[in-house]
Amino acid sequence: MFWTNRLACLPLASLFLLICTGGCSGGTEADQELPAKFRKLLPLHTTLGKPQPGDWLDQHEEAGQTYAQYLRSDPVRPEGKRRVIYILPLGQFNPTQRKILDQTAEFMGAYFGLPVKTLDDVSLDVIPAKARRTHPTWGDKQILSTYVLDELLPPRMPKDAVVLLALTASDLWPGEGWNFVFGQASLNRRVGVWSIYRNGDPTQGDEAFRTCLRRTLQTSTHETGHMFTMHHCILYECNMCGSNHREESDRRPMALCPVCLAKLCHATGVDPAERFERLIALCKKYGLTKEEAFYRKSLETLKEP
Ligand SMILES: [Zn+2]
Ligand SMILES: [Zn+2]
Repeated sequence: MFWTNRLACLPLASLFLLICTGGCSGGTEADQELPAKFRKLLPLHTTLGKPQPGDWLDQHEEAGQTYAQYLRSDPVRPEGKRRVIYILPLGQFNPTQRKILDQTAEFMGAYFGLPVKTLDDVSLDVIPAKARRTHPTWGDKQILSTYVLDELLPPRMPKDAVVLLALTASDLWPGEGWNFVFGQASLNRRVGVWSIYRNGDPTQGDEAFRTCLRRTLQTSTHETGHMFTMHHCILYECNMCGSNHREESDRRPMALCPVCLAKLCHATGVDPAERFERLIALCKKYGLTKEEAFYRKSLETLKEP
């Protein structure tokens, strides 16, 4: 599903026909317009193949967004003192989920190269009955994500916030016709929400913790990418690809493709090599070995003469 200025990331189903414009190979117009340092990274990335049945691009027609289109879109960027990413914990978290939240905040600081602050918890009591439901088939208690974006977050936006995200352990749904969403964000109003409800139980051992952490990091950085006006990626295996279901989401890398990385660096002013160094250190600390190895390779490639 695609709103004018809002992107949701996990639908029930869609009536859109498949018109996949992805699967472009290196050397496309979209690649050639990239600054040279980002073009160096292209060989490390896999172009997006034909979507599998039920995948996001199997269900949704998306035009993508080149780097030049991004620059022309007047994207959300930090301005003056308005450069802090704020996280608002919504509802209750057990101690292990709280650890996931804290590590996510730390990781987002490295991913976007901006300061991250966590606000005081807000109780779910603030969500009115009209913005709650029990899923008619599954019985999950859910919060209306659009209520969080439209009503709950805007009045709580701190003056120095570049973006404000709510993180909740409750399930989310974005409205009629949908089962649930992992997260949802506005492309131009600097608000977003994501949930760890469907990320697995992190209390079930180290591997379960890492799985929950990895999923939470992916969703949080994906949604925050949207808040910096980045559209879904249709060119490469990339963290900005839309995901229609858990298996597809788990298949996607946490890394950004060079096109999306160039957008992020434009938006935040971050240096890509310094960013890779920070991410290597954090992935090592969290035991995310696959991601650590990829960022190492990316850094080495970037530094090649
Ligand atoms: Zn998305
Ligand atoms: Zn991308």
